[in-house]
Order: sequence, then C-alpha cells, then structure tokens
Amino acid sequence: MIRTIKKILKTLLGIVLFPFKLMWKLIVNLLKRFKFSIAFKISASYFFLYIVIILIVAMITSAGYMLNEINKFEKNIAEKDVENIIDNYPEIKNLNMDVSVKTVEIFDSSLNPVYPSGSRSRYSDNIIVVIEKLFYNREYIYSSSFYYGAETYYINISYEITSLLSDAARICMLVLVSGTIGLFFFVPIVSRTSYKVIGPIKNMTEITKTITVNNINTRLDIKGTQDELKELSQTFNEMMDRIEEGYTTQQQFVSDASHELRTPIAVIKGYVNMLDRWGKNDKAVLEESISAIKNETESMQDLIEKLLFIARSDKSTLTYTKEDFKISIILNEIEKETKMIDQRHRLYFKFYEDATIYGDQKRIKQAIRILLENAMKFTPQDGYIMVSSFIQDDYYVIKVEDTGIGIEKKDLEKIFERLYRAEQSRSKEIGGHGLGLSIAKIIVLGHKGKIKVKSTLGKGSEFSIMLPYI
Ligand code: ADP
Repeated sequence: MIRTIKKILKTLLGIVLFPFKLMWKLIVNLLKRFKFSIAFKISASYFFLYIVIILIVAMITSAGYMLNEINKFEKNIAEKDVENIIDNYPEIKNLNMDVSVKTVEIFDSSLNPVYPSGSRSRYSDNIIVVIEKLFYNREYIYSSSFYYGAETYYINISYEITSLLSDAARICMLVLVSGTIGLFFFVPIVSRTSYKVIGPIKNMTEITKTITVNNINTRLDIKGTQDELKELSQTFNEMMDRIEEGYTTQQQFVSDASHELRTPIAVIKGYVNMLDRWGKNDKAVLEESISAIKNETESMQDLIEKLLFIARSDKSTLTYTKEDFKISIILNEIEKETKMIDQRHRLYFKFYEDATIYGDQKRIKQAIRILLENAMKFTPQDGYIMVSSFIQDDYYVIKVEDTGIGIEKKDLEKIFERLYRAEQSRSKEIGGHGLGLSIAKIIVLGHKGKIKVKSTLGKGSEFSIMLPYI
C-alpha cells in the first residue's frame, strides 16, 4: 500500500517537475551553445555573488531595524498598555492607551474570548501568525498574560505599524540603491581583474600558436604570471625543452648519418671515375677499383641496415619474435663461428651455466656478436678475448672481455649513443659507424635486460649483457 502511494507520489512529482526540468535542460543547452570566455564567466559569477550579497544585506538590515524597533516598542508602549489594562481590569473602556492600538482582546485560561464579549477570535502568540499579520494586515500583535481573581487571562493587543514597515522598506531600498551604485564601480573593477588573471593564458595561447620547428627554442615568459599559471608555463617550457632536445638529437643523427654515407659514395665515385679513365685497359686498376667498390658498398649496406634498425626502433615498429629457448644454443653457435673467423686473437669461451630465456634468438645473438666484433676490432693481434656466461641474481650474464685499446672514462657514457666513436678508434682501418652498441642496447632493453661496460684505457674492456631468465 505504502509502496503504491510512494509510486503515485513519485509519478505526480515527475509530472509536476517535468516542465521545469525541460526548461532547465533548454537553458543549459542554450548556454552551452554560447562560447563565453573564462573572464566573462568569472565576472558573471562575481556579479551574481555581489547581487546575492546586496539582497541579503538589505534583508538583514531592514529585519534588524524592525526587530530593534519592535523591541523598543514593546518595552516603552506595549508593556505600559498591558499594565494599564491589568490595573483597570475588568473595566477596560476609556483607558489612556497608545494611539496606534487597533484592538484589544482578552481570553480566559481556556483561551476563550472574554473581551470584547461575543468575540470569536483566537489567542495568537504564535510567531508565524505574528509575522503573517505583520505583512498582510500591517499590524503587530503583542501577547501577554495576567492574574485576576486566581485565574490567568491572556491579552492580545494589536498595533497599527504601517510607518514602521514603510521605514523598514525605505532602509531596504536605501541598501539596494547603494548596492546598485556600488555596482557601477564593482563591474569595471571585477572585469578588469578577471581579464588581468586570464591575460597570461591568452598570452600563452598566442605564443604557443607561433611555435614551429623553426623557432622551437621559443619559451613562455614566466615572470609576470600568477602562481598556478607560472607552474603551467614552467611545465610547458620543460616539455618544450624535451621536445627540442629530441628534435636536435634527431637532426644531429640525420646529419651524421648523411655524413657517414657521403664518404663511401665519394670513394665509389672516385673509383668509377678512375675506371672510366684508365680502368678499361689496366687490369690492376680494374681489380683495385672493383675490390674497393665492393668494400664500400658492403659498408654502405651495413650502415643502411643499422640505420633502418634504429629508425624502426624509434618508430616502435621493431618487432621481436620471442620464444623460450636455451641460451647455450646461441652461445655455442657464436663460439664456433668466432673460432672460425678469428685466428688473430687468443679466444676463450667459458659458459658456466645454462638457462632458458624468453626472447628473440636472432636479435640476442646479434647483440652478443656486436660485442664480440668490437672486441675483435679493438684488440691487437694475439690479445685475449674471453666470453663467459653465468647466472647472477635475477639475470643471466654474458660477459665479453678483451685486452684491447680500452675506452677513456669521458667516452664511456657516450659509446652507447648513435654514431659515436671514441677518438682512438676512429681510424679507417678499424672501421665501424658507431651504431653497433646503440643497436645492442636497443635489443637488450627490448628484452628487459641491462648492458654494462667497464674499461681501462690501454688495458682492455669488459662488456656485459644481462638478460632476465626463466
Ligand atoms: P663501432 O661500429 O664504431 O664499433 P659501436 O657502437 O659498436 O660502434 O662502438 C662505439 C665506440 O665504442 C667504438 O667506436 C669504440 O670507440 C668504442 N668501443 C666499443 N667496444 C669497444 C672495445 N671492446 N674496446 C674499445 N673500444 C670500444
């Protein structure tokens, strides 16, 4: 039963509120269509708040005035009138009462009217009734009680207070008018302040719009901005720093790569010219040219493949074909291949432990080979090269040690950068493009591993690849 009533009430409420809801939706949609600026919205909110405050102040002042006046009136007039009535009761005619008295009503202890006789009115000391009469009938009802002949009597004296009400209304109007005058000063101040607050954002937008690759070093001015905006500008500037750094590195890389390609192309061109002039008949020139062109094209191919690998890694299109495999398979293959191609060094292979790795066999082999090729390149004849592998904590470590030329301390952090080659290794005979270690690093990181280096100039180097194992 209660549930049905609740349901009916809910439906009724829904029906009654429906037009209001519709109106509200319409207003919200309409406001959404207008693109008000933040400054305007801030000003509008302040304006609204100001009006609310002025209204509240007007209401409180006039209500306060009325309360105060009524209080005074009760003490100075109403109480005296009641005393007058009590003194003369039951004779209350021809009393010297205040001029504003409209009616006097007396009730017995059961609140039945006794004066004026035959009256049907009711005793009222209820605040709501008092307020209602105040505004509708412009009269103030004062209530009191007294004893007469061992019985309690209640009195209602109703006073005419039109002048008090119009005074209160006048005060209310005065506050409202002052508020309206204040508005003329308030509006321009508020709108200027809000535009001042929003100004830096506008500035930021304008500056941001002008930033292109040609003026990538442009930054927002932080000095004049407010606190939160300062933080925003700072964050934006920091982001631009990072972008600029990335962009510069990328540009440097492109320029270095072009430079690397220029040399072999120039060499090939030189030999082709030589062939053109003398090579047709001179067998020695022909052979030398063919061999040189072959070498250079191979070197170029190697460089281009490496560059492509790095570009794919940058674009995140590099894919790994990962699977579980025993690392010993790769290590044994590498041992065999190295022993076959390198007779210049003393090679040692010691694989202490085996482990299962989840990864791309080919790529991991490529990374280990890069380290080994470097060791072979940078170690003089008869130098030692040792490849060992073991488990250390959560990683399977593959270490390549050599007794080669070593790396200077200042170069140690840079050798993993693209196209970086330490000074002492930049000879034509040694070769290399400075991309091997970058590629090895990409592969190792792609397997959630680590790559480390220790080296002493003139003594040798130690590179370690650390891969998580299963
Ligand atoms: P590169 O193709 O020149 O070998 P890498 O990226 O593999 O390029 O190596 C970058 C640089 O690090 C090398 O040019 C060399 O200066 C230095 N380097 C790498 N491995 C060794 C090593 N085993 N001994 C000495 N220097 C090395």
